Amino acid sequence: MSEQQATEVTECGADCGAGVQRIATRDAVLGEGLAIRRALPRPPRRMIGAWCFLDHFGPMHLDDGAGMRVGPHPHTGLQTFTWLLQGELLHRDSLGTVQPIRAGQVNLMTAGRGISHSEESPQPVQGQLHGAQLWIALPDAQRFNTPRFQHIAEPPRLQAGGWEITVLAGEYDQQRSAAELHTPLLGLDLHSSGAAEQFVDLRPDFEHGVLVLDGQIEVDGQLLAPGELLALDPGRAQLQFRSASAARVLLIGGTPFEERIHMWWNFVGRSHEELVRYTDDWNKGVGFGEVQGYDGARIPAPQTPWHR
Ligand code: MN
Repeated sequence: MSEQQATEVTECGADCGAGVQRIATRDAVLGEGLAIRRALPRPPRRMIGAWCFLDHFGPMHLDDGAGMRVGPHPHTGLQTFTWLLQGELLHRDSLGTVQPIRAGQVNLMTAGRGISHSEESPQPVQGQLHGAQLWIALPDAQRFNTPRFQHIAEPPRLQAGGWEITVLAGEYDQQRSAAELHTPLLGLDLHSSGAAEQFVDLRPDFEHGVLVLDGQIEVDGQLLAPGELLALDPGRAQLQFRSASAARVLLIGGTPFEERIHMWWNFVGRSHEELVRYTDDWNKGVGFGEVQGYDGARIPAPQTPWHR
């Protein structure tokens, strides 16, 4: 996340309609060697609503590997939002939470003024792993709140046009996610096991992002597969999702986030000075509590470009 990346935008031209961008994800490594695709932040899109980070991991076989191992590290000013599709992960944090997350479940950790956590594949490491982790920027009024952790074992589901729709964040068709959020947001998972076709109603004041997690879909008349984020400006009331065969897609949205945020490593703040302070505090062991029980080292924060 610290690296400057070349811009890779496919301008759609007239066929794509105004206010639509296709943005290539980039390959990145999470923790101790897990290959993932990063869809946010990706120039020219830093955010979709308050969603400020989106990693897609898997689907992958874990046999003979270490699986996911992300040692204790801090966060500020954001919520981490984990959506698991296959396999299992174990979350530990400095509040004392030890929470397995399994397929179909959501973990929501509100960092507020500061928290630390670890994430790992439970032993023995085996089977499949597939999921997504997103971050949500907290608005100024809530970003120094007390840290919290929320596990959502059974997010609401509904059926529409051959799609099974899981309401991960916000509200859709009178189904509301239990996720405690602080700005208007939407997160939907659409899964089909065959042909499916449905118009999904959108809030016109939201901007949206569409990321295919499995298979291939046609959205708004465009073919989309894993590895590309479709970003849509506000002003849409509907979006058509079609699949010819089994597919899974993530739809995120929110009102454009008006506050200017600064991100460095695992921190969200409002100034370089603030990010330098978080970095120094973590490396001195101040202000982020302790994660108990993780069999490995805490991750040191890299020096910021603003350190002197
Ligand atoms: Mn984290």
